[in-house]
Amino acid sequence: MPTVPPNQSKRVLVTGANGFLALWVARTLLEQGYAVRGTARSEEKGKAFLDVCRKYGDQIEYRVVEDITKDGAFDEAVKDVDAIAHLASPVSFTREDPNDLIIPAVKGTMGVLRSALKFGTNVKRIIITSSCAAVMRDVKAPGSIFNEDDWADEAIQAVKEHGKEAPARAKYRASKALAERGAWEFCEQHKDEIQWDLVTILPPVVIGPPLQDVSTPADLNLSLHEVYQAVFTDTLPAEALKTQYSYVHVRDIAEAHIESLKREEAGGNRIIVSAGTETIQRTRNRMCKLYPEMYASGTLPRGNPDDVGDFIWTYNTDRSRRILGFSYRAIEEILRDTAEDVKLRGWLKEGQYPSS
Ligand code: NDP
Repeated sequence: MPTVPPNQSKRVLVTGANGFLALWVARTLLEQGYAVRGTARSEEKGKAFLDVCRKYGDQIEYRVVEDITKDGAFDEAVKDVDAIAHLASPVSFTREDPNDLIIPAVKGTMGVLRSALKFGTNVKRIIITSSCAAVMRDVKAPGSIFNEDDWADEAIQAVKEHGKEAPARAKYRASKALAERGAWEFCEQHKDEIQWDLVTILPPVVIGPPLQDVSTPADLNLSLHEVYQAVFTDTLPAEALKTQYSYVHVRDIAEAHIESLKREEAGGNRIIVSAGTETIQRTRNRMCKLYPEMYASGTLPRGNPDDVGDFIWTYNTDRSRRILGFSYRAIEEILRDTAEDVKLRGWLKEGQYPSS
């Protein structure tokens, strides 16, 4: 399939354009010379997207798609675009009913693909922002390495069996896995009719400065809120500090979307885009090296520096390095960019954690 190189006449549709990742994807596209059409659920949210990207003038526009689960919701939005980055999907670990996540994730994804099939006559490539959540399996033994052949089938099964009683994270994992699998199946079923191909990008926890309008930590999107709570506040119990997670800089995720448009060989691939694995305590220890004064002044909570926890799983990221030509931003850069943003917002107070 042909690629979509940067050029102001190449327009990319970005769904959920007012969200954390989508704003970075949209802004990076604009910086690289693409035009962007965003979708948002209301005029107000569409305008919030325009505000962030205001300096790009007539290179940006938005369409309101009030309900992504409605048939034909994206029919107008896909007209005259050369590529699509689909990011709109609920991100939450607190929904009781798994269908609150699964229905918009699956119907939204299938809706974008159906509209592209019918009306996206210029579309060459579709990128769906899936997630490492769609890969994550139950860990059978310490040292497990997940790759793009893995699917979160246990999460889907847990939701089937336990419904509302399924673990909170299983509900989200199931929503991402079902949506992504549906997308690949759709492409297979319609392979003789479509003139575009599919790439799915699978990030772990995405970290970095938010572009969206955020006044208080409670306004942060889920990944940033979790990182804020874990590193900048002392709200987690000691045992939870040993919890592991994988991370990536939001700038790398934005670039992964754009590299996926430019590189022919990306077509038809699931791609895990993850910079590394940490535990929360390890992150705090790194922060302490970067900002010793913030710990000396009791501004940040230290935890137990000697009890860092172990990694029991990690991701193989060979495909991202090979296909997208990636070398990832280091954890130190991610933490510095995030801490500087939190400082600028005035959310840190000296003397909060005197024993640090
Ligand atoms: P945000 O919450 O910042 O943005 C989510 C976007 O999706 C918003 O535009 C939101 O609209 C829209 N959305 C949410 N629920 C619905 C719904 N029911 N119907 C229509 N639109 C909806 O999240 P992120 O930027 O973090 O996530 C964006 C994408 O990236 C998601 O697909 C997520 O699964 C994926 N991802 C994110 C990771 C992360 O660490 N942040 C990691 C891996 C994948 P509104 O503002 O109106 O609610």
